[in-house]
Amino acid sequence: MKTVVLPSGERVPALGQGTWNIGENAATRAEEIATLRLGLDLGLTLIDTAEMYGDGRSEQLIAEAVGNRRDEVLLVSKVYPHNASRQGAVAACERSLKRLQTDRLDLYLLHWRGDVPLAETMEAFQKLQQAGKIRHYGVSNLDLGDMQELWSVPGGQAVATNQLLYNLTRRGIEWDLLPWLRERRIPVMAYSPIEQARLLRDPKLIGFAKLHNLTPAQAALAWLLGQDDMIVIPKTGRRERLKENAAALDRPLTPEQRAELDRLFPPPSGPSALAVL
Ligand code: NAP
Repeated sequence: MKTVVLPSGERVPALGQGTWNIGENAATRAEEIATLRLGLDLGLTLIDTAEMYGDGRSEQLIAEAVGNRRDEVLLVSKVYPHNASRQGAVAACERSLKRLQTDRLDLYLLHWRGDVPLAETMEAFQKLQQAGKIRHYGVSNLDLGDMQELWSVPGGQAVATNQLLYNLTRRGIEWDLLPWLRERRIPVMAYSPIEQARLLRDPKLIGFAKLHNLTPAQAALAWLLGQDDMIVIPKTGRRERLKENAAALDRPLTPEQRAELDRLFPPPSGPSALAVL
């Protein structure tokens, strides 16, 4: 498995598994569990979830899928902004741990910025870390201004990642946020890497993929995986699609192919507000 280095020096899988909308439907539950397990078998051992997903049902399903394989897994969960206070974040983390049937999270993220001061959230994260309940912490959906502010807050410079919307049709972060993070060696977790499947219907991507004997999903994922500091977390609840997505790891794009994608999906030519889903 290709890996990405966290600021601590720890290596984590570059391709993980997203879980938004997983655990919501009894009819698809068995296949979702089988998919997560197959993912572990294929080395996609980073699993991304959040207390928000299905009101905790995603975390519960993950616990069932992981079973006695906890030590193989890098578990990522997220706290709601309204729970991210000094005490609220600690309580929210305890609830996530219970649903996930584990004693620690590998990475705990602030889901997006809310009204709680960043200093308070960082204080809670540090407390959780000292107690061994989370190994690393980070943020999600923070724009450049938020990151600059975070840098002046105690504990802020210890964030392991910023999880951001990033795919071929959402390249805005390349203008300023991504270079800022790269200067500080903070890897990005690219969420909605296939734009919640909308990208797969894009005629330009379909044409590119056909020409290079890839599927559109593989082309979109391979483009992200070609960047050394990118952790990519596509979601699927189907084993066939998981195999298809995982095969993107075996198909790195050439510089010529990347240049072709730059022509089809141009990088930003100026600043823009951070896009979120
Ligand atoms: P995504 O991974 O871009 O796309 C998921 C959708 O694509 C699902 O409907 C899935 O359907 C379908 N799909 C997956 N592989 C496919 C394939 N090979 N062919 C056809 N369809 C395919 O979108 P996402 O779920 O929004 O993002 C991924 C993860 O990032 C989330 O699950 C979540 O963990 C995280 N996320 C975080 C934030 C945040 O604010 N931090 C926001 C959004 C997402 P099936 O399941 O039916 O295959």
